[in-house]
Amino acid sequence: MHTAFHDALTGLANRALFLDRLGHVLERSKRAQAELFAVLYLDFDRFKAVNDSLGHNVGDELLIAVSKRLQNVLRPTDTVARLGGDEFILLLEDLKNEDEAVAMTRRVQKVLATAHELDGHDVHLSASIGVVTSNPDYTSAEEIMRDADIAMYRAKEKGRARFALFDTSMREHLERRMSLEADLRVAVERGDFEVHYQPILSLGTGEVASVEALVRWTHPVHGAVSPAVFVEIAEDMGLVTQLDRWVLRRALQQFAAWREEGGSQVGRQVEHQMGLNVNVSSQGFLRPGLVRYVEEVLAETGVEAERLRLELTETMIVDASKDVKATLQGLSELGVQLHIDDFGTGYSSLSYLQDFPLDVLKIDRTFISNLSEPKGEALVRTIVLMAQTLGLRVVAEGVETPEQLAQLRALGCDFAQGYLFAKPLRASEVLAFTAEERESAVPVA
Ligand code: C2E
Ligand code: CA
Ligand code: CA
Repeated sequence: MHTAFHDALTGLANRALFLDRLGHVLERSKRAQAELFAVLYLDFDRFKAVNDSLGHNVGDELLIAVSKRLQNVLRPTDTVARLGGDEFILLLEDLKNEDEAVAMTRRVQKVLATAHELDGHDVHLSASIGVVTSNPDYTSAEEIMRDADIAMYRAKEKGRARFALFDTSMREHLERRMSLEADLRVAVERGDFEVHYQPILSLGTGEVASVEALVRWTHPVHGAVSPAVFVEIAEDMGLVTQLDRWVLRRALQQFAAWREEGGSQVGRQVEHQMGLNVNVSSQGFLRPGLVRYVEEVLAETGVEAERLRLELTETMIVDASKDVKATLQGLSELGVQLHIDDFGTGYSSLSYLQDFPLDVLKIDRTFISNLSEPKGEALVRTIVLMAQTLGLRVVAEGVETPEQLAQLRALGCDFAQGYLFAKPLRASEVLAFTAEERESAVPVA
């Protein structure tokens, strides 16, 4: 009996016993409406790292120590069980209100935060906890556990050592996310996306210096999904390299097609100077074969390497491994320009700026939106000055007002991109825009 209902390592209740107990409590609360209880789903942060670095024996000892602490902090009427691995689940009964559940959750987190001394090491642990409080709509113990699990995932998304109280929007969030995942996989297989292009203007000449390719996905049910959402999902699913490479090829094909339209005034403008910016995610960057892929697609589309600018983020190049260096070098040798996207948000070290063959810094739009404040202005001024000193050029992104434009021009910024000039455009709208722009939106200083 004992082994069927208890965890062998810690002696705590196991999942089966916990479910049984929770089922009874649920029944009872249905009869006596007032009875409030809560379930806490607990998962340690980075427990795997402890196991990997200190070994499984230490990991096991830690789980035993943790289970003792949990038992000590709980009241005699409460239940704690181990679900397996580093996951535990707690049942708190006879609560006065939801606040009491939150207070208990905080106590549990505090008790676990004290260092464990094991094998001569001080081991620090933290846990993410999902909390569900009883509610007359629940019909089974399994449902409650599932919601506690969902809340725990939400707590993890917030960072380490956090907790989250379940609410039904989380279930919707998860269901939406799961349906997006399934459909995104299919979309990536089929290349079911569009690419829009946002102009980047030269502040010196007023001409369109380049366009940035931005991927667009229209979901059959949810409609347009923001790339900020689905690119991250694609990253989690390991699909983003395939997505990025699709965008790169499509954008280069489009670029070649614009030039085909030659003859006309606008075609010639593209012919003479316009570039193409394409985003690369860190996974896509670190995956081997990027240099060869870029070279192939350039050859296939007949676009010169000098026209292509890859937008990379700081975090992907700071850890300067050999592979990163080789990739940057390889791209630079092809003649492709390297731009740092969202500059200023990623990493505090600047030394990478001198170590790599970079061309342009794109100042993140949060800095541009703060330009009206003295400190915000000082930051942008400093970034521009630093870039000039290092021989890099500067793009300001997210330029929305004429005041911002005037300031950027006064500061000596080279290029600007933002709703003030144009939103991302359909491929068919780009040539018309490049023709107009010479005269209108950015009068030459
Ligand atoms: P990002 O690379 O920083 O792209 C600029 C984003 O700022 C775009 O959002 C653009 O529409 C938006 N934006 C442009 N001007 C303004 C403005 O004046 N004000 C404001 N508030 N926003 C402006 P979008 O298209 O939603 O893309 C979001 C992010 O998704 C991009 O940020 C980029 O990180 C990612 N993304 C888009 N396409 C791709 C892609 O093909 N591959 C990868 N890896 N990521 C992509
Ligand atoms: Ca970008
Ligand atoms: Ca950006």
